Amino acid sequence: MTDCIFCRIAEGVLPSKKVYEDDRMLAFWDLNPKCPVHVLLIPKAHVDSLAAVGEGHTADIAHIFAKLPAIADSLGLGGQFRVVSNCGESAGQTVKHLHFHLLGGREMGLDLG
Ligand code: 5GP
Ligand code: ZN
Repeated sequence: MTDCIFCRIAEGVLPSKKVYEDDRMLAFWDLNPKCPVHVLLIPKAHVDSLAAVGEGHTADIAHIFAKLPAIADSLGLGGQFRVVSNCGESAGQTVKHLHFHLLGGREMGLDLG
């Protein structure tokens, strides 16, 4: 069994508050939200981070971004949102399964901490 928590969430072994799901991807609420809307978008197929992305991952990643506008609309974001992917520990990545943070619902500056 994988010890990747996001793989386990994608498999339904661990629970999550789902926003959208299909055969390739899952969108679910972040456990520790930084914004009124803070949803994580993940490919179901494991890849560690953007640093590990290659040609074999492009369809999954394109799919996530094709679904993103409708997911943001469903959350009431009205075209006002930010998408972030932390890559590597020094950039703040804590879960080593590629994910995109969809953030919105408040004003945001560019404080990179
Ligand atoms: P990172 O720090 O890797 O960019 O983002 C990981 C995110 O996953 C964090 O915002 C953290 O709150 C969230 N997270 C960690 N574990 C879980 C979990 O088990 N369930 C959910 N829904 N979110 C999680
Ligand atoms: Zn994984």
